[in-house]
Amino acid sequence: MNIILFGPPGAGKGTQAKYLEKKLNNFQLSTGDMLRDEIKKDTEIGKKIISYMNEGKFVDDDIVNSLMKKVIFDSNKKGKLIFDGYPRTLEQAKNLNLWINDSNQKIDFIFFLNVSKEIIIQRIEKRKIIEKRSDDDLDTILRRYDTYIETTKPVLDYYSGQTNFKEIDGGLKINEITAKINEILNV
Ligand code: AMP
Repeated sequence: MNIILFGPPGAGKGTQAKYLEKKLNNFQLSTGDMLRDEIKKDTEIGKKIISYMNEGKFVDDDIVNSLMKKVIFDSNKKGKLIFDGYPRTLEQAKNLNLWINDSNQKIDFIFFLNVSKEIIIQRIEKRKIIEKRSDDDLDTILRRYDTYIETTKPVLDYYSGQTNFKEIDGGLKINEITAKINEILNV
C-alpha cells in the first residue's frame, strides 16, 4: 500500500509514518530526514541546501525530486511507500503522479493531518527540546508554517477532490490519529 501523509510541520506526519512503517512493513520516505542526512554527510547537495533548511525555506524541487525518484523506482520498495513531507509543491505532486504511473503503482490513500498554527507552535517548541533540530526555533517555525500555507494550497486543491483523500483532525492525540488511520485502512 502506498500512502501520502500531508500536513504542516508539526502535524505528526513523522510519528504516524513511523507507526505505519512498522504496522504495514513499509518504508517511511521522509524528505526532511533525507535532506538532513545529505547535510550530515556533507555531500554537494548538503552544502547547497543547509542555508535553505535552517531558514525554514523549501529546498529546490529539482533536488527533492531527484532524491525521491530513485526511491519510487526502487523495486524493493514498490507498493510499500509512505510519503512523509513529500509532495509539498504542485510540481512535486505532478512529478510524483507521473512516476507512480510510470512504475505501475498507485497511491492508495492521502491523509491530510490538519492542525492550527497555535497547536503547531506548542508542539514544535516541545520537539525542539527533545530533537534539538536547528530549524525548530520560533521564528523559523513561523516561517515554515507560512511557507507551507503559501505553497501547499495548490497541492491540497490537487488532491482534495480524490476519493482516496482523507482529512483527519491533526490536533487530536497521537493514538487517536492512529486509530482514525487504522479505521480507514481497515487494519
Ligand atoms: P520536515 O522534516 O519534513 O519538517 O522538513 C524540514 C525541512 O526540509 C523543510 O522546512 C524544508 O526546508 C525541507 N524539506 C522537506 N521536505 C521538502 C520538500 N518536499 N520540498 C522542499 N523542501 C523540503
